[in-house]
Amino acid sequence: MSDKMNRETFIKELSTLNITPTKEQLQSLETYKNLLQEYNQKFNLTAIIQDEDIYLKHFYDCLTLKKALDLTQDLKVLDIGTGAGFPGLVLKIFFPNLKITLVEANAKKVLFLNTVIKTLELKDIECLNMRAENLPPEYLEYFDIVTSRAVAKTNILMELAIPYLKINGLFVPLKANIDQELEESQNALKVLNCCLLKKCEFNLPLINAKRTILLIQKNAKTSSQYPRTYDKIIKKPL
Ligand code: SAH
Repeated sequence: MSDKMNRETFIKELSTLNITPTKEQLQSLETYKNLLQEYNQKFNLTAIIQDEDIYLKHFYDCLTLKKALDLTQDLKVLDIGTGAGFPGLVLKIFFPNLKITLVEANAKKVLFLNTVIKTLELKDIECLNMRAENLPPEYLEYFDIVTSRAVAKTNILMELAIPYLKINGLFVPLKANIDQELEESQNALKVLNCCLLKKCEFNLPLINAKRTILLIQKNAKTSSQYPRTYDKIIKKPL
């Protein structure tokens, strides 16, 4: 077997996630990859830009969420700091039943995301050019799932994420190494009425890079003082 994630290896590894891609889904990913490479020359969207790396470190990595969650239900999902669409846009391609809201502070990335959404004719997906802490109040206590990859430490992210979850909703960050992050999140868990349900640890195939997916459940309504402004979140993290 090749140690690069070519198309064949990608499909094979997806089967270990119980995902069988359709031809249309594979074609959508290829179009997405081509647009990413094209726009990256102008906009600097990502450092990961070789074909095989995009398939492994972006597309496959995002789909590992399937290990932690049943994504076949009709869920409202928020992706905070989605960047070039990771994981939210990849999830939409594979689980069209999901209603996805992408939030991204950088306007150029949002322009790229809207181009991909339009080109692939994706429905039930919106992309907000905003900071997560400034989402309009109708999004409070609204989502079934909030996810995020490579944006901030868990305690910081929790303040950005938990207020937007319904009671019993799940915050599911994709993490590489969490080291001290969980210990540092004990107070955030308490203040935001959450508990850690599960820690899902595994290695990415081919490169054996460590990954951790946290499942954090919201047990009660969030105090209306959260999220605070970003300078307060950073200066005095929970
Ligand atoms: N999730 C993507 C991008 C990670 S880079 C991936 O895994 O590849 C972090 C992104 O989060 C950047 O694009 C940055 O603009 C965005 N970001 C950081 N803080 C944010 C906030 N508070 N609200 C919205 N977007 C934010």
